[in-house]
Amino acid sequence: TTQALRNTTTVWKEQDRRHHIHPFTDSKALHAEGGTRIITKAQGCYLTDSEDHQILDGMAGLWCVNVGYGRQELAEAAYKQMQELPYYNTFFKTATPPPIELAEKLAELAPEGLNRVFYGSSGSESNDTVVRLVRHFWNLMGKPDKKVFISREHAYHGSTCASASLGGMTAMHKQADLPLPGFEHVMPPYWYDFGAGMDPASFGKKAAKAVEDKILELGADKVAAFIGEPIMGAGGVIVPPETYWPEIQRICKQYDVLLIADEVISGFGRVGTWFASQKLGIKPDMMTMAKGITSGYLPLSGLMVGDRIADALSEGGDFNHGYTYSGHPVACAVALKNIEIIEREGLIERVRDETGPYLQEGLASLVDHPLVGEVRGMGLLGAVELVKDKDTHERYPNNQASIACRDHCIKNGLMLRQVRDGMIMSPPLILTKSEIDKLISILRSG
Ligand code: PLP
Repeated sequence: TTQALRNTTTVWKEQDRRHHIHPFTDSKALHAEGGTRIITKAQGCYLTDSEDHQILDGMAGLWCVNVGYGRQELAEAAYKQMQELPYYNTFFKTATPPPIELAEKLAELAPEGLNRVFYGSSGSESNDTVVRLVRHFWNLMGKPDKKVFISREHAYHGSTCASASLGGMTAMHKQADLPLPGFEHVMPPYWYDFGAGMDPASFGKKAAKAVEDKILELGADKVAAFIGEPIMGAGGVIVPPETYWPEIQRICKQYDVLLIADEVISGFGRVGTWFASQKLGIKPDMMTMAKGITSGYLPLSGLMVGDRIADALSEGGDFNHGYTYSGHPVACAVALKNIEIIEREGLIERVRDETGPYLQEGLASLVDHPLVGEVRGMGLLGAVELVKDKDTHERYPNNQASIACRDHCIKNGLMLRQVRDGMIMSPPLILTKSEIDKLISILRSG
């Protein structure tokens, strides 16, 4: 059978090489390096690849499989809804029950004041909706000049042209003449790289002041909104100093700039609360979410809209925006069941009280390693910054250390992601303490 598995794998790799374009991938390098790793099955926190290797999934897929793999209940919820009604739209004065019931549930769980939801199928779509809705809102308020978005370098908000413009990934911008006009980027609250010579608290204020300076430079009458991930994810799990968000909150209020939290990664229990905004004391005017809403079992996203904006919208006539799959009944039925599982199994409390602190302790134990410059994280989000020189924060050229570490981890049965000079992690919320021990020990040995 091993030979049979190898043969099948070879066929898949060849089909993949010939016909499949992968996201965020250098195709030539991928196929030169032995081709695609094909994942065929998964259970709990473990992936199985096409050659029958077991891999601990330290990333929960792409930060999304919060309740872990192999949940029969989610499959059954989808099956039942597909039999009853696989699809009907939410346009033109119709809807189906699942998106309505889910909307009520989301309003209950979301930070205070966010009581209505607009659905999409991906984080990118919901962040595009942000751009459309915010501009429409300021038009309705009689302030049509308030149109510019402020975001941060290293931010990730998605891959469509508008959401990539919100994002601060220069590599993405370069290839497609982005950002679009009307998107500005400021320094991220990334103490390790930007805070030389400052203590984290002072640096947090400085990074927030970069937002205020940008508002003053552009004119508050031109600035529509500030968007930020409460903890930056794909940019390297950047946990801001405690002084950052309270200042951002104050600045947005002072200049009447809408505050938008992108909780696509940080939502649904990742940091030990339903949403990171609740943990960090952020009161957003709008909030986007995706990924953990269905634990990735089906594509679904949402934009939670605060009362001020939702009330203006409901007085504003048609909102000329929507997706065929806005409020897809099967995805919403799965989301409802997924939320029920998170509640019933106490997964949020478990991350808050047990596994979150345990993972952070495990990470902290790595700081004596000669290559580890900094560790950071919150709940079940973590990052390890690899350096050549701990004092100067000098890195190895071309991300050598982190690439070698990632390859070592995968070879030893642990899936982690490498970002610049760091290793990042976001495991399923069902991860056990012994799986955390395993994760930390493989990471240390790399
Ligand atoms: N926002 C954040 C914070 C993300 O991490 C991501 C994806 O990783 C997105 C938005 C985009 O979501 P999607 O890939 O579902 O379009």
